[in-house]
Amino acid sequence: MARSLAEIRFYTPKTLEEALAIRAAERSDAMPMAGGTDVMVWRRAAPDEGPAAYLSLWGLRELKQITKRQSCIEIGATATFAQLARSPLLRENFPALVEAARHVGAAQIQNRATIGGNVVNGSPAGDSLPVLAVAPAMVVLTSKGRGTRRVPFGAFYTGYRQTVLEDDELLVSFELPLPPPGTWSGFEKVGSRRAQTISKVMAALQARLDGDTLHGVALAYGSVAPTVIRLPRTEALLEGCSPSERLADDVSGTLNQEIAPIDDLRSTAAYRRFAAVGLLRRLLRRCAAAQGRAAA
Ligand SMILES: Cc1cc2nc3c(=O)[nH]c(=O)nc-3n(C[C@H](O)[C@H](O)[C@H](O)COP(=O)(O)OP(=O)(O)OC[C@H]3O[C@@H](n4cnc5c(N)ncnc54)[C@H](O)[C@@H]3O)c2cc1C
Repeated sequence: MARSLAEIRFYTPKTLEEALAIRAAERSDAMPMAGGTDVMVWRRAAPDEGPAAYLSLWGLRELKQITKRQSCIEIGATATFAQLARSPLLRENFPALVEAARHVGAAQIQNRATIGGNVVNGSPAGDSLPVLAVAPAMVVLTSKGRGTRRVPFGAFYTGYRQTVLEDDELLVSFELPLPPPGTWSGFEKVGSRRAQTISKVMAALQARLDGDTLHGVALAYGSVAPTVIRLPRTEALLEGCSPSERLADDVSGTLNQEIAPIDDLRSTAAYRRFAAVGLLRRLLRRCAAAQGRAAA
């Protein structure tokens, strides 16, 4: 039988220290909840299977900040996508993250949904994931007993919706290394509609433009594998090339070898392969335009 709301314990700590103490005591009995936009959907879908307690992170002001440090931008785990979308620091340094934030749901969702929740949920369709993969972000995890550890974003997922997060830890922030001058980044997504849609495929590209050639290329895709993935062989082919739509076609064979999309309720594997190349075309066209010349 479904638990009534009165039977569910709901913790509302005001400091990270307090939250970590509750997390250490309750472990997996209390599910962390940031904006609740995923957690509440799960609860509605399966009220009998929900946890006995929730640990709300919403009141932790210290996890909401977006701050410039000496060599990185630090984004608190409970910063919302609305905050990300209007951050001048991110607009200047990680415009792809601003674009991804604007693609998440609609205004109501952007006002509650947090970047930490998006990442811990671990859906391969999570819009912030490809951008964090190309930055590349460091994921900062903290527990009461063992202190803080930093996990490279590429090592955070161990499988489909599986992460290295332990049951006494909270994700507290992301550290995105400041990109070198001349860096361009962009995010593209294909869904069923232009807005309010979960991705069929999405991609992020970050590269430094030196003259008219690409350097330090980082390319990541979502919804084409069990977790978000970087495409190292395609990145190597793009390195030192001039961005153009034709370049996307030239590397499409390797790109298709590196992704492994499936058929599911949102799309087919064949369409995802087609769209993945189309997204790279768009990204390279925009990158070329940013450089002040028309794409080939
Ligand atoms: C109508 C609708 C539209 C949506 N559209 C999109 C979309 O376009 N793109 C997209 O990517 N997503 C979309 N989502 C999914 C959802 O909004 C995002 O995944 C969101 O970022 C989750 O953040 P949250 O703060 O609400 O997470 P919550 O629901 O609070 O938590 C999600 C998971 O993360 C864990 N968690 C949260 N924060 C922490 C933390 N700091 N430390 C440890 N664990 C933590 C929770 O325990 C839970 O397992 C949509 C959801 C809805 C309902």
